Amino acid sequence: MPVTMSSPLIKWFQLIGERRLESADASFESRSPANWQEVVGTFPSGSAMDAQKAVAAARAAYSAWRRMSRIHRAECFDRLAQLIHGQVDALAELMARECGKVVTECRAEVIEGLHMVQYVFGAGRMPTGDVVASEIAEKDAFVRRKPWGVCAVITPWNFPFAVPLWMLCPSLLEGNTVVFKPSEDTPAIGQKLTELFLEAGFPPGVLNLVHGDHVAGEALVRDPGVNVVLFTGSYDVGKRIQQLSAEHFDRIVAAEMGSKAAVIVCADARLDLAVTCGIISAFKTSGQRCVSAGRILVHESLIDRYVEKFVETAKRLKIGSPLHATNFTGPVIHQGAVEKILGYNELAKKEGAKVLLDGGRMTGSEHAPGCYLSPFIYRQEHKPGLRTIREEVFGPHVAIIPFRDNDHAARIYNDTEYGLSLAVITEDYRAMRFFREECEFGMGYVNLPCIGAEVHLPFGGVKKSGNGHPSAAGLVETVTHKIAWTVNHGTEVKMAQGLTTNIEGSPA
Ligand code: NAD
Repeated sequence: MPVTMSSPLIKWFQLIGERRLESADASFESRSPANWQEVVGTFPSGSAMDAQKAVAAARAAYSAWRRMSRIHRAECFDRLAQLIHGQVDALAELMARECGKVVTECRAEVIEGLHMVQYVFGAGRMPTGDVVASEIAEKDAFVRRKPWGVCAVITPWNFPFAVPLWMLCPSLLEGNTVVFKPSEDTPAIGQKLTELFLEAGFPPGVLNLVHGDHVAGEALVRDPGVNVVLFTGSYDVGKRIQQLSAEHFDRIVAAEMGSKAAVIVCADARLDLAVTCGIISAFKTSGQRCVSAGRILVHESLIDRYVEKFVETAKRLKIGSPLHATNFTGPVIHQGAVEKILGYNELAKKEGAKVLLDGGRMTGSEHAPGCYLSPFIYRQEHKPGLRTIREEVFGPHVAIIPFRDNDHAARIYNDTEYGLSLAVITEDYRAMRFFREECEFGMGYVNLPCIGAEVHLPFGGVKKSGNGHPSAAGLVETVTHKIAWTVNHGTEVKMAQGLTTNIEGSPA
C-alpha cells in the first residue's frame, strides 16, 4: 500500500476566479522521487474546459487590476514577501519531498523566489518609462508601458517555486492577470504558492491555477484570450507552443528552454577552483538544472590532473534523502528520467567514450525505493555529430573533452544547438574576453560554476535555449508594450520635420 503523506487538512484544488475546484473528472498523483510509494497529494486534472474558464476569469479581473495604482499592486507583493519569509523552511521541505532536490537547495530556491517578490515590491515605486525630447520646444514626449492583458504561465518541475515567481511577479506588477499551470510533477508546491498569493490579498481572478499536463497546457496556448505565453521547459514543448501560437498574430511567446552548458578550464586555471566549479556545475540538483554542465572542456596540458581530481571528488559525493541537509544531491525526478539518463550513458559508450565513472542506478536500502543515480563521467574527443556531447541529458552525466587552444574550445562550446550558460576558469583577462565574445550563450561566469542566477539579472539563452525574452527582472520587456505619448503645451499646432500645418493651401 502506498504511504499517503499528504496532510488531510490540505485540500488540493484548482483556482478559477473565486472558485476553488477540489475535484475534476480525472485526477493525478504527485509522488516523491525519493520514495515512489510516498504520495504527496492527489490533484484534480485540469481539462481543456477548466483552462478556458480560467482564462475567462483572468480576463474578467483584468480591467480592475490594470486600473489599480501600480504602487498599490506592488504593496500586495510586500504582504506576499512577509508570508514567504515566515515559512521558508516549510516550503523548502515540501519542495524537497515533491521534487527530490536536497532541502538546502530548496531553501536557496525559496529565498530566490522571495528576492523576486521583494524586487517587484521595490520596483513599484521606480520609474517605468522615459521622458524624451521633441523637435518642437512646446511638446513633451514620453515613453510609457502598458500591460498586454492575460498571461499563461507554464512552468517546469525543477524550479517549482522560483521560476513561477520570475514570471508571475513582473506580469502581475505591470497590471496583467495570469493563469498559472505548474508542472504535473510538482503540483503541491505550485498550489502552495497560489495559496500564498490569495492570503496576501491579491483579488480574485488576478491569479488562477490550473493543474495537469499537456492537455491543460495546450488548451491555454490555444485559447485566443491569452495575450502572452510565458513558458519554461524543454525545447520540444517550447517549439510546439510557438507553433500553436503562430495562429494568433498578436501573441507574444517567451520560451526559456534546455541547454548543453559547459565549463571551460584553461591551461592557467587554478586546479582546485576548476574542480569545485566542475563538480557543482555538473552534479548539483543531480544535473537537472537547465544550466547544468553536460560538458567540461579542459586544456590538454591539464586534463590528466583534472580528470584524476574530478573523478576522485565525484566518488565522494553524498547522494541520498533530499530531507537530509548534509547530502550533496538527491534522486532524479522519476522513473522516466532514470531510463532516459541510463540510455544516454549507454549511448556514450557506443559513441566511443572512455568511461571514468560508470554511474548506474543506486540500489542500497536507502536508495532502492527512489530514483537515485550515481554520476556518469567520461572522456570524449570532440567530433562533430556525437549526440551525447551535443544533446541535453538532464541528469548526472558529464563529458570531459580536451582542447588545444582557445579557438578550439570556443568551436567545441558552440557545437551544439543550445546556448544558455558558460563558465570560464582562467586567470587570463584576454581569454575571459575572448570567450565572452566568441561563445553563444545567455549567462556567462568567470571562475565560478555555470549555475547561480540572481533575480535582478536577465535569465535566458539563445539558439534552442531561448527566444530572446529573458525571465526574472528582464521580463518587464515581454509583459508590457511601449507606447509613445506626446503632449503639446503651446496654443498652436507645430509639427516635427517641418511638416506644414497650413490647411487652406495658401503659402505658409
Ligand atoms: P517540460 O517541457 O516537459 O514541461 C514544462 C511544462 O510544460 C509543464 O508544466 C508541462 O505540463 C507543460 N507542457 C507539456 N506539454 C505541453 C504542451 N503541449 N503544451 C503546453 N504545455 C505543455 O519540462 P520539464 O521536464 O518540466 O523541465 C525540464 C526542462 O526544462 C529541461 O529541458 C530544462 O532545461 C528546462 N528548463 C529551462 C529553464 C530555463 O530558464 N531555460 C529553467 C528550468 C528548466
